[in-house]
Amino acid sequence: MRRFPVCACSTAHLPRAEHDTIDRLIQHAPRRSGRIIVDHPILAIEAHQYGFWVHLGFMDDWPERPDGLSPEFWALLADARKAGANWLSFDGDEPPSDRFPVFAAVQGEATGDAGESVNAATPTGKITIRCSACGSAEVMRDAWARWDDDAQDWALGAVFDAAFCEVCEKDATLSEQPLGGSQHTHP
Ligand SMILES: [Zn+2]
Repeated sequence: MRRFPVCACSTAHLPRAEHDTIDRLIQHAPRRSGRIIVDHPILAIEAHQYGFWVHLGFMDDWPERPDGLSPEFWALLADARKAGANWLSFDGDEPPSDRFPVFAAVQGEATGDAGESVNAATPTGKITIRCSACGSAEVMRDAWARWDDDAQDWALGAVFDAAFCEVCEKDATLSEQPLGGSQHTHP
């Protein structure tokens, strides 16, 4: 038997979009020999009852942050790796740490958290995605979708790196910015 170290982290530190994407991957994961296969483009993920495990071995191949992971997600993985861990468990029951920003739950997920989960990064906790070249919000990314029998609709699966700006009319680099508090609020 071999011992190896793991870290635990509150799921509240995960940016909502990435958290939702992974939850959706787990929800729609196919099974192979009875086992759940979570088909994330970068990460090896194992679902558990209160969240999921991420294997940190991929960082041997990705010494720099891959475009498919947000800086916030990467910071958590890098911190666990630096602590010598092989796995990082994201756990909904783990209390958040004050070393990392907390991302509040969005629409319909409010379970009466008495407002203590306030995002440290932005006033609303929401972000917008813009073209790095021209600042336009008319940007899109490659992704795949999977049919959801329950929702009777296509559900977003993984989102890939390739992006396109409709204003520049060419491939684009995207940047995340805090939503609200800046120029683009309600008229
Ligand atoms: Zn552009």
